[in-house]
Amino acid sequence: MSDARTILLKLRDGTPLTEAEIFWFAEGLATGAVSDAQAGAFAMAVCHRGLGEQGRVHLTNAMRASGRSLRWDLDGPVVDKHSTGGVGDCVSLLLAPALAACGAFVPMISGRGLGHTGGTLDKLEAIPGYNTQVAPDDLQEIVADIGCAIVGAGADLAPADRRLYAIRDVTGTVASIDLITASILSKKLSAGLEALILDVKLGSGAFMASDAETLALANVLVATAQGAGCMTTALVTDMNQPLARAAGNALEVIEVMEVLTGAARDTALARLTIALGGEVLALGGLAADAADGEGRIATVLSGGEAAEIFGEMVAELGGPADFVDRWPDRLPAAPVMIDIHPGEAGFITAIDTRALGEVVVALGGGRIRQEDRVDPAVGLSEIARIGMRVDGATPLARIHAGSEDRGRAVAARLRRAFSIAGRPVDAPPLIHERIA
Ligand code: URA
Repeated sequence: MSDARTILLKLRDGTPLTEAEIFWFAEGLATGAVSDAQAGAFAMAVCHRGLGEQGRVHLTNAMRASGRSLRWDLDGPVVDKHSTGGVGDCVSLLLAPALAACGAFVPMISGRGLGHTGGTLDKLEAIPGYNTQVAPDDLQEIVADIGCAIVGAGADLAPADRRLYAIRDVTGTVASIDLITASILSKKLSAGLEALILDVKLGSGAFMASDAETLALANVLVATAQGAGCMTTALVTDMNQPLARAAGNALEVIEVMEVLTGAARDTALARLTIALGGEVLALGGLAADAADGEGRIATVLSGGEAAEIFGEMVAELGGPADFVDRWPDRLPAAPVMIDIHPGEAGFITAIDTRALGEVVVALGGGRIRQEDRVDPAVGLSEIARIGMRVDGATPLARIHAGSEDRGRAVAARLRRAFSIAGRPVDAPPLIHERIA
């Protein structure tokens, strides 16, 4: 029989915890047997001492086991993708239906935007009527019928993580790779996945501050997910500039629809969707290898099969039944648009992508606090990419704002986010590393 004090003393002194002790602590987080003070001490001790490779796997499994896990009996693999988050990253909206069109089942439990990064649920809620809160039984039914559903987490999913995360937030203990790993994976793996592709973002708009920490997180995530029994690969992908040319909820849905309906094909957004999809199809046994998987994803994106499944998912979750045909009429639009041009013509050499995300938040398109409401229509479009020439005709970006004042208020900040020089530079690669 464990107790919190003994576990904390062991952690403090750097003595590895047993699987039983970690399970006891996670259960105590969920039931309340562990106090807030003990949970805070646990988080701080893990920040300083770490849990070790086995400890991370145990904490992931224990936090997953603190709530409900989905079980499946389907005639295809259950797979998913997780991104560490960025700006203009709307891959999930494309990838879930594309994977479903290839024969996979995708219960994609997603989150909201917080800080400078956007959230998949906020993007989908830009579609009038789309309901992201469904009961686990309904989620299972929709996934079995259509092949995918993108929804929010219910209260019964990894409750130990929910409590620990709130305490980490107020105790300065978010930035621990061990805790981040267990937090992300306990929630993802609750969906009963057989295979997972991780999109770990690197660069000026990424969640982790440095490239070294990003790579460390990617390696630990892969090892822990595999240790927890889920076939996993990570792509470390570029977030030195927004992935899409737009950032903001409805504006990103527009980019998604342009890929799904064939209006935009060879974009960074489409190419990354294909790369991530290829990897997870191979992991799930639906493709011979990643290259074969990429071909399959590209085919269902260009052939309209992914669009059809996206439309079915939207309708099933309460959105317009004709969304795929009528999306330009169905999405909200901001009343004011302002093009921001550079002070002088030149080539974009770098972008402070975090600052662009913060501009979207300042326009009302994201959240500072969990309870903030977002305006789905606002954000940025036509965002210039690294290596592009900008001048009086080609803007740095177009602001979509709720009022002229709110738009003008972010203009100087937006301009400062772009570095411009007289000579072009090479664009950063879309994929920096693959970790398997
Ligand atoms: N996302 C999570 O879900 N948990 C963390 O700890 C950090 C990012």
